[in-house]
Amino acid sequence: MTFPLKNPNPAARYRAAFRCINGCPGEYSLKDVIYQCPKCQDLLEVVHDPEPLRMTSPAEWKDIFDSRFMRTYWPYGSGVWGKKEFVCPDVLDENIVSTCEGGSNLFWAEQLGQKWGLKDLWIKLCGNSHSGSFKDLGMTVLVSMVKQMRHEGKNIPAVACASTGDTSASLAAYCATAGIPAIVFLPKNKVSTAQLVQPLAHGAITLAIDTDFDGCMAIVRQITSRNNIYLANSMNSLRIEGQKTISFELCQQFDWSVPDVIVIPGGNLGNVSALGQGFLQMKAVGLIDRLPRIICAQAEHANPLYQSYLKGFTSFEPQQAKSTLATAIQIGNPVSIKKAIRVLKEFDGIVEQASEEELAEAAAEADLTGLYNCPHTGVALAALKKLIRRGEIQPDQRVVVISTAHGLKFTGFKTRYHASEYQDMECRFANPPIEVPAKYDEVRDALLRGLETRNAQFSKS
Ligand SMILES: *Cc1c(COP(=O)(O)O)cnc(C)c1O
Ligand SMILES: [Zn+2]
Repeated sequence: MTFPLKNPNPAARYRAAFRCINGCPGEYSLKDVIYQCPKCQDLLEVVHDPEPLRMTSPAEWKDIFDSRFMRTYWPYGSGVWGKKEFVCPDVLDENIVSTCEGGSNLFWAEQLGQKWGLKDLWIKLCGNSHSGSFKDLGMTVLVSMVKQMRHEGKNIPAVACASTGDTSASLAAYCATAGIPAIVFLPKNKVSTAQLVQPLAHGAITLAIDTDFDGCMAIVRQITSRNNIYLANSMNSLRIEGQKTISFELCQQFDWSVPDVIVIPGGNLGNVSALGQGFLQMKAVGLIDRLPRIICAQAEHANPLYQSYLKGFTSFEPQQAKSTLATAIQIGNPVSIKKAIRVLKEFDGIVEQASEEELAEAAAEADLTGLYNCPHTGVALAALKKLIRRGEIQPDQRVVVISTAHGLKFTGFKTRYHASEYQDMECRFANPPIEVPAKYDEVRDALLRGLETRNAQFSKS
């Protein structure tokens, strides 16, 4: 039996354009090379005309999405391109650069939920993706648009980004897939070995610069403003369009019901903006009828949003981010700050922070229940734990944590934790390898001791 692909109303003409987030007049084609409002220099956002989308009913859209999801109708089996009409209708299918991103599994964290007092806790494993992070969701849209523009004769010799490690890995992978040169700017010695190797393997021009992410960002903005090189950072709001499919996919996976609370780690704050954007668009078209509460979690060492939250978002001060194990969110001057604050206000948002010890212990505790967390997911989990304890989250609420990268990218973080090498941390769940001679008695004794400590560990929380 073949599964029938369903199609939306053929008369609909989908329209999306860039507009200024501050409402300056003017509209720009998604095929223009433009990242900022020419009038106020602030960010742009992609605005979709809801009318053509409403020409297909919500029930029909749900059927259409389900008929495409995880199937082989190129490119609609992708979690992003299965929602193409809502994401980026301007790219021809033949120019789409996809690794079949999206469709990441929802892990039912039954054990962790039980330990922490939640009945309905889920982890959206966005790191189960081609390059190992959620960045693939946005990068497929951006690189597809570059391919489309090159196809139409625009002179775009390369695509460039500054990165804390995952954007660069994703950009390099998608550019290699498309045969387009990629340039990545990395803060020297501030990304994991796995993250450094990814762009090298994909043949990207990789620059290790003696600064932090914010310093790399300043340089890439100069380079891309003068040399026809296309900017792949999330100030380019095409990325947000792809990333917002996380919200669509979550609802789809829950049979189109909306979770109560979503916890997401934030650095440059593009992803929390995208998450909100997805829900707002679904609501505007009638796919859902309510919004979840959104909680953004920051590392205490890079917490400019948290500081602003404490002041009721009445002001915002960029900061010099301090070193944190959550390297992908070590950002003091987030590009998408205004978008994020707007989303948090609309979604009854909370911002919570996690110390180095809290993020490491939360990641390790959750790993013991079958997850394999990156430090940023550790930040989100630590924040969740605090909010449960404070009574901000109720035991019967459906809670989803957005896990942003695969733990395998952060082997160094885990190795040092399990060797108890972090000076100011207890490393309560450290589980170092037991070295024993190849003798039966000694092996047996070591096993018995191991079982004792294991049982003690499982009962601690
Ligand atoms: C990029 C990234 C984040 C932060 O996302 P923003 O959009 O910058 O807030 C969090 N975790 C991981 C693993 C990332 O790669
Ligand atoms: Zn403007």
